[in-house]
Amino acid sequence: MTEKCDKSAETEQNNKLEAEIGTKVTNDETVTKPKKELTATQKARIERNRQKALLLRQSRLSQQQLLGTKTTTGCSRVIDTGGGFLLEENPDVKPRKLNRVEEPAPVIAGDDSICLECDKPFQDSYLLTTYDHQVCDKCRDPEEKHSVITKTEARETYLLSEVDITKREPILKYVVRKNPHNRRWGDMKLYLRLQIEERALEVWKTPEALEEERDSREQKREIAKKKKFNKNMKKLRQEVRSSLFEVKSNVHTHVFGPEIQSETDEDIYTKTCIECDHQITFEKM
Ligand SMILES: [Zn+2]
Ligand SMILES: [Zn+2]
Repeated sequence: MTEKCDKSAETEQNNKLEAEIGTKVTNDETVTKPKKELTATQKARIERNRQKALLLRQSRLSQQQLLGTKTTTGCSRVIDTGGGFLLEENPDVKPRKLNRVEEPAPVIAGDDSICLECDKPFQDSYLLTTYDHQVCDKCRDPEEKHSVITKTEARETYLLSEVDITKREPILKYVVRKNPHNRRWGDMKLYLRLQIEERALEVWKTPEALEEERDSREQKREIAKKKKFNKNMKKLRQEVRSSLFEVKSNVHTHVFGPEIQSETDEDIYTKTCIECDHQITFEKM
């Protein structure tokens, strides 16, 4: 830091004095003799004015000294920023800036948000801080109008993609909650339903278009389901058929031994499979 201070400040002040008293005041503060001869009264008046001006200046200077401010008016400190240019610092302004107490910005009515429901101004609310939704706490309706929806539900109900929900501007805010069904499952992201609906309208333009898309997807799903069902049935039939074939081919064919007439009833005969000992009884007329 260099001090750039010269006599120019004082000269400037003297020039001001000159204007005030109508005569030239030099640095050594002697009055140069006017070229034109002046009357004694004129001289006296000039001298009085000069004294008055000097007194005024003196009192100003001592006042400044009392206040503790620098008296080297016009003498500025120059700061070399090292960036190839110099910053000029006005010492008369700087200390005041430093001593200034930072007061909180005054609350202006214009800073308040206007509730979308009741049109009344409010400063802060749950919906505003959590979802950037401009509705005051009094008007908040968490059961109906301001209910929340999970991301999964939003995707399925409003046919929104991950990008639609998480990347599209303005970015939708959400609240993270532990899954109430199972703590080990991923956290749930809860979105404000009406913001999701708004987003869905941006994507689908009209509720009808969304409905149409939903129907069409439902149809496709149905068709796919049917296809899958048919495919499964075909597979099952094939499996059953082949297993039936296998059953048939694997079935044991009895090889019966000789028919033996019953000792008690001459019409009754029995025969026994020679392989599995299966015995059948039959009548022979
Ligand atoms: Zn309200
Ligand atoms: Zn047998």
